[in-house]
Amino acid sequence: MINSFKVMIFKRQNFLLLTILCFPLAFNAQTTNDSLSTKGHPNNNKFKQLKDELATPNVYRTASGAPGRDYYQQKVDYVMDIELDDKNQKIYGKEEITYTNNSPDELSYLWIQLDQNIRKKDAPALEKNGEGAEPILRVETFVNTYFKEPFDGGFNIEWVKDENGAPLKHTINMTMMRVDLPQPIKSGEQFNFSIKWWYNVNNHVENRARSGYEYFPKDDNRAYVIAQFFPRLAVYNDVEGWQNHQFWGNGEFALNFGDYTVRLTVPADHIVEATGQLQNPKEVLSRTEYKRYREAQTSFDKPVMIVTQEEAEEREKSFSEKKKTWEFRAENVRDFGFASSRKFIWEMMAVKLGNKNVMAVSLYPKEGNPLWEEYSTKAVVQTLKTYSRHTFDYPYPKAVSVHAKNQGMEYPMICWNYGRPDEDGSYSDAVKFGMISVIIHEIGHNFFPMIVNSDERQWGWMDEGLDTFMQYLAEQDFGKAYPNAIEGLEKYPSRRGEPKAIVNYMSGDQNFIAPIMSNPENVYQLGPNAYGKPATALNILRETVMGKELFDHAFKTYAQRWMFKHPTPADFFRTMEDASAVDLDWFWRGWFYTTDFVDIGVKGVNQFFVSDEPSDEVKEMLENYGMTIDDLPPVVFTMAEDNENFKSQYKAGSPTDHSEDLKSYMEQINVSTDSVKIPKNFYEITFEKPGGLVMPLIVDYTYADGSVERVNYPVQVWRKNDAEIKKVVVTDKEIIGIKVDPDQETADIDLSNNSWPKTDAMSEFDQFKANLKN
Ligand SMILES: [Zn+2]
Repeated sequence: MINSFKVMIFKRQNFLLLTILCFPLAFNAQTTNDSLSTKGHPNNNKFKQLKDELATPNVYRTASGAPGRDYYQQKVDYVMDIELDDKNQKIYGKEEITYTNNSPDELSYLWIQLDQNIRKKDAPALEKNGEGAEPILRVETFVNTYFKEPFDGGFNIEWVKDENGAPLKHTINMTMMRVDLPQPIKSGEQFNFSIKWWYNVNNHVENRARSGYEYFPKDDNRAYVIAQFFPRLAVYNDVEGWQNHQFWGNGEFALNFGDYTVRLTVPADHIVEATGQLQNPKEVLSRTEYKRYREAQTSFDKPVMIVTQEEAEEREKSFSEKKKTWEFRAENVRDFGFASSRKFIWEMMAVKLGNKNVMAVSLYPKEGNPLWEEYSTKAVVQTLKTYSRHTFDYPYPKAVSVHAKNQGMEYPMICWNYGRPDEDGSYSDAVKFGMISVIIHEIGHNFFPMIVNSDERQWGWMDEGLDTFMQYLAEQDFGKAYPNAIEGLEKYPSRRGEPKAIVNYMSGDQNFIAPIMSNPENVYQLGPNAYGKPATALNILRETVMGKELFDHAFKTYAQRWMFKHPTPADFFRTMEDASAVDLDWFWRGWFYTTDFVDIGVKGVNQFFVSDEPSDEVKEMLENYGMTIDDLPPVVFTMAEDNENFKSQYKAGSPTDHSEDLKSYMEQINVSTDSVKIPKNFYEITFEKPGGLVMPLIVDYTYADGSVERVNYPVQVWRKNDAEIKKVVVTDKEIIGIKVDPDQETADIDLSNNSWPKTDAMSEFDQFKANLKN
């Protein structure tokens, strides 16, 4: 509780404008000196602009974060003939590549990505870790790592030829292949060449890969989900030159936009889905399937089953010796993936987005049911709607969710997703929500990075973080759109996005935390680093720092500026500020470039009073200026109740309200009080910031009459003192409680200092630790 206090008034008639202007400055500097001296002056850095960290704006990328007037990107088109050998689990391919050099530079060689070489049995990536024996391992991983010969799944490049059939000199360095050109490709020119190759397809369940097959021993079938399966051009641009950093497994992909025509030859009884529009449905589908396929194009209320479970179960037994070729075409995509199996159930429905119909598609073996028939297509539809609202209308003709055990991986228009019931068809909430969330996440990747095409090899967070942020919004929308799916819950149980969900990570051992602005290969805890923390940061930016209106406009501006282009972190940071007029350099600096955490608390409360006696500090300062009280203009001396002068003159516990005295004083010095109400209480509250991150200060003041007032102090309160600040509250009411960050919206890691009077409540983190011990 706060003791009541005395208000005394004091009158001086002499007026000296100069003194009153400079005096408070000197006084402030002295009183805050203590807290500054303990920490030096780190505060200047927190708000320093990001001039040194961001690339200098140029003709390719502007200072506003938009593509510049000379922005360019290369285009790479592929025509491919692919054959899947199901019996021997091999893939054969021949691809014709048209490379268009839109850069201003001459290129004397091209770099081609050979991602499958990470599966060569002597790949250096197999030995990239140095953690020794892991305490817990999946059985498959344990057996594969220590008992088996490494699988040999690298590319076998048969030839690389120019358009006249002449061999092109090429050099393979791990996962990159340099093709030397007979003549440099000049700016604006095209170069045509072709590559022939094959490789052994791996079991992705055994070795946790992004591509491969799952084997089903009960019916002796395989379900293939195939990606990174063809030699792909590396990106050449104004940022990296050739982005030819090797593929080590975690840093994903940097890829060019282009048009694809792909003919996939598979066993005749397989069902195939892939990036791009199917060109020959009449040829590859039965009459009944084709009729349903046509129906589905205008089915807006529910999916049409193209292949039912019953039909898929029949197919599982057929093992056709014949082949069929499925042809797909895709425009302006950065990659190509496909799924093929005789086990697939296949459903699709139409979604209206803008003035276009988009097909929402699901493909799954019977092992996915009953979960998949219930939720997969719904999750696809919701994702397309929510993401389109926040970015741009989904521009591709379809989005496919394929069920693949333990997989969550994205490609243009198609992705692989986990979530499988037990054999008896039962499933837990964890499996259900895990499955819905991964589908939202992977379908969402169509926007980031498939269309807003960032460099994943260098910046994991630019696609994972933005996508996980959007995933949170889509999950919450899903919960509202399908209340039956979240029966018994208040809202959809998102795993990532809520500020408190990141506290455990951000308050953890600093040896295992890296800034978000790190390469994905070099960090521990890639999940929280590239997914959870950036997603939470954006959520906080939207809800707490910028507000939804400013944030949503800026985020949409970023998405639309960089749709079908290649943005960098600076383009994102700059656009968010450029479109909102909110200086966020402090936010990017703290949240993205450091491993600091949020911890802000309330340290103490002082009532202060108005005195006719200056405090000793004031007297001393007047002496330093060679002044006396008579030299001052009309002033009010304030003194805190813990001041020694105050203690010696007045007793605590005296009556509170001296507003009438103050009022008569104001009148004496000709200050009109007609339009002001003189409040009874003067409080000075000290807020402390043990955490490194600066954040807006959100405070609930609770008054004796039970009312609560929310005050949002801007983050700028920390500009001049990074450790401690004081705010004044004048009010008629008596403050009985103060709470910092009352809704836990800033990811404050320690709540034990958030309340005054101090409560004994444990912080959530302490509770979490205590629960672990029990
Ligand atoms: Zn992802």
